[in-house]
Amino acid sequence: ATQRVLDDLQATAKAEGISDPEVLVDRLKSELKALLVEGDRSLRFEPGGPNVWLFVGVNGVGKTTTIGKIARQQLDAGRSVIMAAADTFRAAAAEQLGQWAERTGSEMVRGNEGGDPSAVVFDAVQRAAARGNDLVLADTAGRLHTKTNLMDELRKVRRVADRDPGNVTEVLLVLDATTGQNGLAQAQQFTEAVDVTGVVLTKLDGSAKGGIALAIQASLGIPIKLVGLGEGVGDLVEFDPDEFVEALFA
Ligand code: GDP
Repeated sequence: ATQRVLDDLQATAKAEGISDPEVLVDRLKSELKALLVEGDRSLRFEPGGPNVWLFVGVNGVGKTTTIGKIARQQLDAGRSVIMAAADTFRAAAAEQLGQWAERTGSEMVRGNEGGDPSAVVFDAVQRAAARGNDLVLADTAGRLHTKTNLMDELRKVRRVADRDPGNVTEVLLVLDATTGQNGLAQAQQFTEAVDVTGVVLTKLDGSAKGGIALAIQASLGIPIKLVGLGEGVGDLVEFDPDEFVEALFA
């Protein structure tokens, strides 16, 4: 992605005879912003049965926290929310999501430890449909402690979640801004398995600038939709390409 951007910049500089470094940096910023502007950043919601938003990503990136934050925003927007604790492989995961459910006043469906994650999502969708709830926010495992392949498991979760009356309208890959090139590999793997619709870039409140977002958008065409700016329930904002690029150069 870097090479492509630099090649374009070089061509522009030559064609327009730019030699002033400041002008060049401005052109570079514009190119990066243009790259990031592509794609729809809104979270998709379709009327009808319960919409399911799946959260995927490796352990520790901030999936559970992001679900709490999004639940708050969606509840404030007037939607009813059920959380699905489909990371059944880590005992603490459901507990932690449970705390977010309590904090936000959402309901949560959980299963037995080591149980079938798809069954949890299935139950959550059934319950949402029966109660006329709008949204199921489903947490998933970032790593499995069994021989089952994580990507196979996630494929199954997505398939089950998408079965009538459920409707998977977002698959959000949660990515830690401190992740380097490995973030691109993660995005590739998850997107092959479950067709990622957007990225949530967390921990951008730290010193990391999250440059990997550029590579993900450029190589995979996946839009960065949201940015995590802290551990609190209000610390989630829409991704802003202008601010992001300016911060890269700050
Ligand atoms: P999960 O394993 O993917 O569910 O990750 P968690 O939601 O448990 O988050 C892992 C850690 O990262 C927790 O300590 C969170 O408080 C923290 N965290 C999550 N999002 C952010 C963020 O945007 N900024 C900061 N500074 N910390 C975050």
